[in-house]
Amino acid sequence: MERLIYIDGRHVPKSEAKVSVFDHGFLYGDGVFEGIRAYNSRVFHLDEHLERLYQSAKAIMLEVPLEPKEMEAVVLETLRLNNLKDAYIRLIVSRGAGDLGLDPRKCPKPCVVVIADDIVLYDPQVYQKGMAVITVPTRRVSVDSLNPRVKSLNYLNNILAKIEGYLQGYPEVLMLNPEGYVLEGTGDNIFLVKRGRVITPPAYQGILEGITRAVVIDLLKEMGVEVEFTPITRHDVYVADEVFLTGTAAEVVPVVNADSRVIGEGVPGDLTRRLLEAFRDHTQVSGTPIY
Ligand code: PMP
Repeated sequence: MERLIYIDGRHVPKSEAKVSVFDHGFLYGDGVFEGIRAYNSRVFHLDEHLERLYQSAKAIMLEVPLEPKEMEAVVLETLRLNNLKDAYIRLIVSRGAGDLGLDPRKCPKPCVVVIADDIVLYDPQVYQKGMAVITVPTRRVSVDSLNPRVKSLNYLNNILAKIEGYLQGYPEVLMLNPEGYVLEGTGDNIFLVKRGRVITPPAYQGILEGITRAVVIDLLKEMGVEVEFTPITRHDVYVADEVFLTGTAAEVVPVVNADSRVIGEGVPGDLTRRLLEAFRDHTQVSGTPIY
């Protein structure tokens, strides 16, 4: 059966889910979104994703036409209509249809879309053997241009970095800020472990504050490890004992090589492996029930 997609107040089959070519989300990347997962018939940290969505919308002065509770109901209903237990959910609020100019005041009605589909999993090898990454020339957009804390529909900055990665044969890359500090991947946050200390870049540097990042910080606390929020350099990455990336799709991915420097022993580290296990356990028991 064709998937049912929520668009502007109703559910329609995928082939009929269409957005205007005058939508400023399409014309200018003017809008916000969320990528969410459901595990075992529960939506993982839905409240946090909704909070981030509404904060992103506030930052770009976009009025979401649904209350958070209504949005939650739409997400759950979309999953139920599609009979999904484990899923990837994409929530989009765009500025809506306007004219060809930039002026958002010409867009009277924001467009809300909720897509729920099967999740495309990473290759299991990545978790067993770890991933190699490189740093790329394209810098993460600066906080005073378009703060990466806003999860906006304009992902061209990340896409350029992604292209630079795959041209060299790397599926994920590390993005630096204009000062050369390592910020995050194109769709994941970074952590490193050095002599038992766990460090991740602070939000003020201009990263997307990942929901997975927050979950991992809590899980580490439960394991007796406090995370420090400190700017990190490429050197810190090269000489770390362990490095891992976190994200909704990626979960917790060990990084074993960066810019051709072997990290630690060149295999997923002990803390990273224990954390991934704790994370997977947590996904199975927490979240908003769908049914
Ligand atoms: N950084 C960027 C740039 C991202 O796009 C994402 C994915 N949304 C993340 C980090 C990880 O965030 P989350 O854990 O909420 O998926």
